[in-house]
Amino acid sequence: MRAKIVAGNWKMHGTRAESATLIDAIIAGLRADSAQCVLCPPFVYLSDAWRLLRGGSVALGAQDVCAETHGAFTGEVSAAMLKDVGCQYVLVGHSERRALYGEDSLLVARKFAAALSRGLTPILCVGEQLAEREAGRTREVVASQLDAVTGLCGVPALGTAVIAYEPVWAIGTGRTATPGQAQDMHEFIRQRMAGQDAKIAADVRILYGGSVKAGNARELFAMPDVDGGLIGGASLKADEFLSIVAAASG
Ligand code: PEP
Repeated sequence: MRAKIVAGNWKMHGTRAESATLIDAIIAGLRADSAQCVLCPPFVYLSDAWRLLRGGSVALGAQDVCAETHGAFTGEVSAAMLKDVGCQYVLVGHSERRALYGEDSLLVARKFAAALSRGLTPILCVGEQLAEREAGRTREVVASQLDAVTGLCGVPALGTAVIAYEPVWAIGTGRTATPGQAQDMHEFIRQRMAGQDAKIAADVRILYGGSVKAGNARELFAMPDVDGGLIGGASLKADEFLSIVAAASG
């Protein structure tokens, strides 16, 4: 039985004070038996967040990481720095990084490797664009995003990671994948990994992301291969996020 995870990706939203208020409200509302919860605030609020979360069950995550270890990379943040401020998780390959900042699958794989090398758990985001789905290329696209990581890091590396299937057409659009569409792709991802390592495939957590809300979380999380969610917009509202976490805690 895989324990579920719910991760909140705050993207570039909120002030320092709003971030603290949100964290306090989430901590206060969590049940003792809640699913593992990961919060990913903007970089500049990570240290504040760590102080607020310290000692509790909620883990801290970052939204991105540099593929390089250190040096003349203005504006970048290394895996060691994220670890230093208390992060346990980091998103790699979020579709906004791929689409808006030109990150290709090789760079994503290098970021994945950088995270692992410093003991961070990468949350590897994969997913197809709407045009790719409509062209019947969903599996091919997701397979190639996964293969870039296994090609560089090896399949065992996925054993210490989390995967997030996020159809790009569902992110921030209010158009959620149906539970059947999500299950179909999660099963595909697991089976593809099983071809190389059955144990890792059985154990890896695969989160669904894309317009998850309190109202649809329970039916998505009930799918056998959906091990929780990566939540964007709804993670900025404590009550909504807590309802989603409760749905995963079933
Ligand atoms: C995301 O940003 O990863 C995401 C899933 O966003 P939303 O929940 O707003 O669709």
